[in-house]
This record gives sequence, structure tokens and C-alpha cells, in this order.
Amino acid sequence: MKFKPANNIQDLQYFGEFGGVNPSISDSSTYTFLSAKTMFDTFEGNADGCYLYSRHSSPSNLYLGEALAAMEDTETATVTASGMGAITPVLMQLCGAGEHIVSSRTIYGGTYAFLKNFTPRLGIDTTFVNITKLDVVEAAITPKTKVLYCESVSNPLLEVADISGLAKLAKRYNLKLVVDNTFSPLSISPSKLGADIVIHSLTKFINGSSDTVGGVVCGTQEFIDQLRNVNDGAAMLLGSTMDSLRSASVLKNLRTLHIRMQQHSHNANFLAKKFEDDGLKTVYPGLASHPSHVLFKSMMNDKYGFGGMLTIDVGSLDKANALMELMQERNLGYLAVSLGFYKTLFSAPGSSTSSEIPEDEQAEMGLSDGLIRFSIGLDADIERTYDMMKTYMLELNILKPELV
Ligand SMILES: *Cc1c(COP(=O)(O)O)cnc(C)c1O
Repeated sequence: MKFKPANNIQDLQYFGEFGGVNPSISDSSTYTFLSAKTMFDTFEGNADGCYLYSRHSSPSNLYLGEALAAMEDTETATVTASGMGAITPVLMQLCGAGEHIVSSRTIYGGTYAFLKNFTPRLGIDTTFVNITKLDVVEAAITPKTKVLYCESVSNPLLEVADISGLAKLAKRYNLKLVVDNTFSPLSISPSKLGADIVIHSLTKFINGSSDTVGGVVCGTQEFIDQLRNVNDGAAMLLGSTMDSLRSASVLKNLRTLHIRMQQHSHNANFLAKKFEDDGLKTVYPGLASHPSHVLFKSMMNDKYGFGGMLTIDVGSLDKANALMELMQERNLGYLAVSLGFYKTLFSAPGSSTSSEIPEDEQAEMGLSDGLIRFSIGLDADIERTYDMMKTYMLELNILKPELV
């Protein structure tokens, strides 16, 4: 029987130490051993079920990791202090000096900056490619390449990666396919499509309350053990560990993710269709006009929709800024970066989250000045939201009355 990812989360069962319906929070940085021999074995990495020190693992972090591994259908997972705290150790674990990464060019600004400006200092080079073109990806692979890196749905342009196609390439050239699935939790299950490692920023949809940063690496037991190895594990040695109190709170939020994703997707789909009908340049993977609409459909777990992210182009940065300020003033959402909140969040990526990308490269990628990225909220009455937005767009001459 095939389970949906949300069922896998729902089917986990843990009890607190007094029979509580939530697991007890492990509020300790270090753990006692009954015998000195066990401590030695644990350092050697072969004492199952023994905790050593909370930078390595803690019961609360393991509960959250297990739930996320169930969602992503991987053997296991390790949670981290932020999304970047998941991405950077994975890439440093997989690549060393003289080695090479082929990455999508449309990725989260922080990841782009890490690969473009930071890893070259370690002797790791990256070729950035248009990830939607498998022949271009293949042509960029060299004998030194170790990793193919992409986001299932990219930030901010919502390009969709053909994960099965990339997985075949990765297999053929003996590379690891690393997929950041932050924009499409539950909708897309990269590991089922052949990804080796799946990463999330928990900061976004998964936690969903914009109260913390967090991250996760989902993969094989072997790889996660390597990351946490006390002698040469990048997660262990770079130290981006999540705090137990926080992992307990993220676990509780994770349980409503399936309901939230359905509502985010429903609302975003509604607005995208309306905006497109109004003649606005709208990018949303759920629109038939989206270049990867059919691909997304072929990969998705239907029920969770095409996600909560959409972009519109209002023509200029001035208009984008005016619209965003008006929407915030009238309480339709917040002018803020990030995503996955109950309120709609909006920003102009060219001058914010993607400002790490040089202007000429932005233009080449199709990242225009008037682009507004929306993370559509959980609004109970999305028709009212649309009516209000339309009024503002008419007011600001973004929409012309005769066209509407
Ligand atoms: C936010 C984000 C990250 C980074 O996550 P943090 O939790 O902010 O460190 C990585 N990838 C994507 C796609 C993101 O949206």
C-alpha cells in the first residue's frame, strides 16, 4: 500500500516519559554513561541508542528528524540550526579541494553566495546552469564533479527541476543529487524521484510560524552518520545543531503542514488564475502557461497542490514598492522576506533575497525589477483578498480599468 507523505508523519507514535502525548523534551547538552566502556564505544560511533553530547544528537532532534525522514521517504535525517546550516555541511561533506559542483543558477541567494563566493576559497568550484535543460547540465559535468545541486521549485523564479532526469544523470556520472525542497514540502517527494539527499529550510512552510530558523538533511543512514561523525563529519564539526527546545516546537507545527499546504496552494492557485486573467505577467506552476506545468504535475503528490509561491511582474520597481507598501498598510500581508507564514509575505527579489546575484545575471535569468514574490497566506476568504488587491492595482495604475 502506498502512503502519502502526510500519512507517514501521522503514523509515527511517540510518548512522553510520563505517557504524555508529546515526547518529552530533552533539555540536556550532555548525557551520563553507566560504564566507561560505553562512552568509548559511543565516541567510536557504534553504541546505538546512547547519547553523547547534544551537538551530535539529542532525543528531541531525533524525533523531529525521524518525522521529516518519514515525510521525505528517506532512511533518516538530521536537523540543523538553519537551512544554510543544512546546506553548507552537506556540500562540504561531499566535496573537497579540487572538486566541482554543477548547480542550478536559480537558487536561494544564500546558497548562491556560498557557492559563488565562499567555496572557491576551499578549492571547490561551481558551474551554474539552467537546470531545466538536461543537456546543458550534462555538458557541465567534468571528471571532478561530485554533486548536482538544485531546488525542486526554484527561488524566486519558480523554475521546476526534472528530478528524475537529473537523478539519471547523477547515476550515470556517479554524482550525488542534492535537492533543496523548501518550496514544495509534501507536494514533491524528491527522494521518490531519485534524489540522494533532500534538504529543507524548516524556517519556511514546515515550521510555518516565522518564529525560528531551522533546517534538515534527509538521506541514507550512511550519509547522515558521516555528517555526524565526531572525527570528520561536517555537521558535527561545523556545529550548526538545532536546540532541543526548538526541535520540539517545530515537531508540533509539522503536524498541521498537510492542512496548511492545501490552503496555501488553494489560495495561490486562485490568485494566480485571477491575476493572469487580468493580464498580469504571473508565474505559478499551477498555471497551464507555466513552462514546467506538465513536469510539476507529473512529479507531484496531487492533494497538496502547486504550492504557495507565486510571482507577478508589475512593470517597475517603483510600482512594485508602491503596491507592497499599500498592501501592508491595509493589512493584506507583510513586506518581508521569507515564506510559509499564515499572512501573505511579499518582497521584490531583485533588490532583496536575490540581491547577491549581479544585475546582468539577474536580467539573463529573467529576474526583472518589477517582479514581486508572494508567499500566499492562509487567508480564509481569498476572494476578498483578491478584490482588495485588484482595487490597489487599479489605484496604482498597474491594472488599467479598460482591461479589467
Ligand atoms: C530560506 C531558504 C534557505 C535558507 O534557509 P535558512 O533557514 O534561512 O538558513 C535555503 N533554501 C531555500 C530555498 C530557502 O528559501
